Order: sequence, then C-alpha cells, then structure tokens
Amino acid sequence: MQSNPKVAVRETLPKKLVDRMKVVAKRIKAGDDATTVESDDLIQFEGLWDCYGGLTSIDTGRFFFCFYPGGEDDETEWMLDLSQSEIAAIADGTITSISLWRCAKCDGPERLAAVDGYCKECDRP
Ligand SMILES: [Zn+2]
Repeated sequence: MQSNPKVAVRETLPKKLVDRMKVVAKRIKAGDDATTVESDDLIQFEGLWDCYGGLTSIDTGRFFFCFYPGGEDDETEWMLDLSQSEIAAIADGTITSISLWRCAKCDGPERLAAVDGYCKECDRP
C-alpha cells in the first residue's frame, strides 16, 4: 500500500503528555515489568485512558505510545516513537517539543511517528 505524502511538524508537548512520561520514566527506572516486556499496551495509566503504549523492542530500547491530546473521548491520536533517553528527557523537561508527521492530503489533527505513518482518513488499503 502506498501512503499519501506526510509533512514534518514540530509539536510542543502538552503538560498531560509530560506527566505521563514522568510516570513512564519512573517505571523504567524501577524496572517495572510493563517497561521491560515487549508489548503494544502494557504501559497504562491507572484510570486515565488518554495514553498507553509499550516497549517496541528490547534490542532497540524504543517505546511506542498512542496519546489522545483531546482526552480519551476525542479520536485525535498522536503516535509517538521514543527512546528511553527521550522519555527521560521529556520527564525532566529537557525536551519540550517533538518532531512528528501530519498527513499532507487531509491536514487532519492526527500526528504520526514516522513519514511512512498511516493516516486513518486517507491511507486506506
Ligand atoms: Zn490524511
């Protein structure tokens, strides 16, 4: 499947996301199972459904998160591909913005982690 063109966009990290990454950074430090076992969604936030994710690969130490900046009832989704050190830097305020991708075709609110990311609106198979 060929995906439509994407445009790089720099987004300031919302406080809510920083708060979630603070929790993740703590869990990584503590060696919490949710951060050491590969998964899509083992990392969750008690009672909060605006963010979840997991360790993509033990080898690369990268994590993937889905984040809903408008809250759990808003379908707008950000997809984040972060290294352990990026998570730590977001948690301690060293990183305050992040490079993501948006769909050039619909210019929708979705934010994708990669240039070959999948726009829910336009990149239907
Ligand atoms: Zn699109």
